[in-house]
Amino acid sequence: MLEVRDPGNGELVYRAPNSTLDDARDAVSAAKTAMEATDWGDNPGQRATALSKLAHALRSSIDWLAPLLTREGGKPLSVSRAEVLRGAEAIEYYAGLARNVYGRSTMLAPDSLAILLREPVGVVSIIVPWNMALSLLTRPLAPALAAGNAVVIKPSSATPGATAEFVQMIDAIPEFPKGMVNFVVGPGSTVGAELVKHPDVDMVSFTGDTSTGKEIMKMAADTLKKVGLELGGKSPNVVFADADFDRAVRGALNAASMFHAGQVCIAGSRLLVEETVHDRFVQRLTEMANRLRVGHGLKEGVQAGPLINEGQLTRVLDYVEVGKREAELVTGGHRLTEGELEKGYFIAPTVFDRVPVTAKIAQDEIFGPVLAVQAFKDEDEAVEIANSTVYGLAGAVWTNDISKAIRMAKKIKSGMVWVNTFGKLYPAGEMGGYKQSGVGRQYGLEGLWEFTELKHINVQL
Ligand code: NDP
Repeated sequence: MLEVRDPGNGELVYRAPNSTLDDARDAVSAAKTAMEATDWGDNPGQRATALSKLAHALRSSIDWLAPLLTREGGKPLSVSRAEVLRGAEAIEYYAGLARNVYGRSTMLAPDSLAILLREPVGVVSIIVPWNMALSLLTRPLAPALAAGNAVVIKPSSATPGATAEFVQMIDAIPEFPKGMVNFVVGPGSTVGAELVKHPDVDMVSFTGDTSTGKEIMKMAADTLKKVGLELGGKSPNVVFADADFDRAVRGALNAASMFHAGQVCIAGSRLLVEETVHDRFVQRLTEMANRLRVGHGLKEGVQAGPLINEGQLTRVLDYVEVGKREAELVTGGHRLTEGELEKGYFIAPTVFDRVPVTAKIAQDEIFGPVLAVQAFKDEDEAVEIANSTVYGLAGAVWTNDISKAIRMAKKIKSGMVWVNTFGKLYPAGEMGGYKQSGVGRQYGLEGLWEFTELKHINVQL
């Protein structure tokens, strides 16, 4: 049995049988049969209707689904509610695009017509992490279905409950042919690996850790299937002295994603501040970090939740010990155990200052409420520090000089750069990783094309 416990208080939240390897194989087979036996891939109207109904069902579920997301994953209820809405928006967006999976056609020679047709890839495995179980599922699921594919979903063993409920909404919509959407739970190393290696799986869309992503790419190589990888990050949040100071401080705290104990892939976990405002900036940021109300995500007024489990707690505390040797601990750096917090995996929002570029806490994705602050003299040094990790998922620049903002945004090697804001994501705007943060793009039109193959039909006239 798979048991999920609330990371904020240890209570049992969800219990379900783990799938077996045979279940995973049956799921792939059901998906393949559904693709072959139905006209789903050629029926954009049906796909648009199915997705529209799903978006409506998801939106309507917010009052009971968001608390379940919080109890499974720990984030504050407001964050879970936003996650449900973002999931519904993504499905709505791709419901609209389902009728617009256009290819193109052109004359290649006076007697040769090319029809370039976008077709579904086939059976797509969608493997999801725990930190945003629903929005990281809907982000690839909606375009995969809009493009006419069949899917097999595997959530993280840490957070399968909300996904199981969501899958039942799909099951209740008659426009989704049986077998088009399949769901298994179970360990990544067995059930997940089967969904990658299986010869009848045509594409794997994986979101998770960079090291797992590398493993998946190797496993997928045997059958040369398509892979989409959304991986880890260590995103730089660069603040220049001419930025709006108060907005930038609030933005930096938000970027550090303390609300979800730093467990956000795009988190601005490295804060780069121009030397002339550095001291004042760190002081103000620290005051705000110390005021954050940490607690169980369902409790009124809580702004920051727990880590997902004991393993993650230990891992983050180990990083904190390393950090104490590498840099200056400004605030936090310890577990919180007063009162009810003792039952959960809480760490005080933690800020390290004067972190050297090569420090482990400046290089590794900690996935905890740990912010590494670095000072820089000028644009060149800011770019050098910003690009000094193996990651390239996101980043931000705060300045009132638009030319400087664009220069910096162009030089930062990452799939997304915000200017004077952080973390805003829209279903219509692409995101994805440079360097070791991933392969391919999600959201937007590019996110739809990822789930298609391009066929060239050549007609001799
Ligand atoms: P993991 O890589 O550990 O797991 C992600 C998923 O992959 C889980 O469902 C897991 O299953 C499964 N899995 C693990 N090993 C294998 C394998 N060998 N074959 C197939 N599937 C496997 O990541 P976490 O769940 O710990 O999530 C945190 C990570 O996700 C962070 O690095 C974060 O940056 C990244 N992430 C990236 C995002 C992006 O958009 N770029 C967004 C959010 C998170 P199980 O856990 O059940 O064993």
